[in-house]
Amino acid sequence: MTGSALNRLAALLPQERFLARPEQLAAYESDGLTVFRATPLAVAIPETAEEVIALVRLCREERLPFVARGSGTSLSGGSLPVEEGIVIAMNRLNHILRLDPALRIAVVEPGVVNTQVTLAAAPHGLHYAPDPSSQTICTIGGNVAFNAGGAHCLKYGMTSNHVLGIKAVLATGEVVEWGGASRENVGPDWCGLFTGNEGLFGIALEITLQLLHKPECFHTVLAGYRTLEQAGDAVSAIVASGLLPGAIEIMDALALEAAVAAVHADYPPGAEAVLIVELEGPREVVAADRSRLDAIVAASHPIEMRPARDAEERAAIWKGRKCAFSAVGRLSPDFIVQDGVVPRRRLGEALRRISEMAREANVR
Ligand SMILES: Cc1cc2nc3c(=O)[nH]c(=O)nc-3n(C[C@H](O)[C@H](O)[C@H](O)COP(=O)(O)OP(=O)(O)OC[C@H]3O[C@@H](n4cnc5c(N)ncnc54)[C@H](O)[C@@H]3O)c2cc1C
Repeated sequence: MTGSALNRLAALLPQERFLARPEQLAAYESDGLTVFRATPLAVAIPETAEEVIALVRLCREERLPFVARGSGTSLSGGSLPVEEGIVIAMNRLNHILRLDPALRIAVVEPGVVNTQVTLAAAPHGLHYAPDPSSQTICTIGGNVAFNAGGAHCLKYGMTSNHVLGIKAVLATGEVVEWGGASRENVGPDWCGLFTGNEGLFGIALEITLQLLHKPECFHTVLAGYRTLEQAGDAVSAIVASGLLPGAIEIMDALALEAAVAAVHADYPPGAEAVLIVELEGPREVVAADRSRLDAIVAASHPIEMRPARDAEERAAIWKGRKCAFSAVGRLSPDFIVQDGVVPRRRLGEALRRISEMAREANVR
């Protein structure tokens, strides 16, 4: 790229929001997949949609590659810079532009952190359902690009199920507005197409999110098992029963070890695996489902079953789970994450086989 192109870009922003010195660029060299690194030519930090649009249009004119970046927590090189390209860091577009409790929507800028939406909605008895484990740091823009999911997506679906409208600047420089406050829109589902595009179509500037009523009550159970396979079989049994919990999660021995090291979580002694199941909804429905769930878990041979007795115990159970993934960093400086799809009947068997393969290969 010519120096004049870089100068033209730099002129779009105040000096302190256009980074080009090596020590300033170091923090932007990778995302959560740190084995891949690339130094961008510069990092632009816009504060308004107009600045983002101007940057994208100039990149287009100068044929300069760009990558949008939220909080850089993606695990697959999503916000990895392109060498000889620029990074457009979206964190300062972090305002909730509108929260309408009657319509149950929030219109947010893309740099808003996931949990901020629920915090803002809480006084109205509402919440934003998609809850990736990284939710206290990752941005809605990154969630949209990666169609992020979380523990509660079993019941509520992924980000794409909660995005009603998107305003974006495409890589061509064209500004588009799709969808809106309504849950029904006419014509092709462009929001659906954009959600999960991995940052390749353009940059989201404004996102309209659907909010849901906070569940009236919860029933959270933690059960410890001697083997991972038993925990997997318990999940299969719960799903086969027709119950639809808000969340079901398993933690294996390594995840338990990490959670204990990080937040001193307390798990049943001797447990090689822990299952967390949470029912949520209207009081009467949860009460009816609770006895069915407790019976299924009790029949799945746990060494111990611990229903949360109050909100504090529930929070403690989830704290252990939500920190487990990042806490694996305490056990090893390098780890690799892969998502897989397993026929639900064969979950226990798949988990047993993975444990066997890990032992055979001497890989934790
Ligand atoms: C500890 C930990 C736990 C995690 N748990 C989960 C989990 O439970 N579920 C899950 O799905 N993921 C999880 N992730 C992965 C990651 O947090 C998500 O993919 C998240 O959506 C990334 O958001 P971000 O703001 O960090 O985006 P970044 O990593 O900065 O970017 C991700 C992608 O989004 C694009 N992007 C960013 N902003 C915009 C924008 N405004 N417009 C268009 N594209 C944009 C980038 O170009 C890139 O392609 C986890 C990661 C960590 C480190």
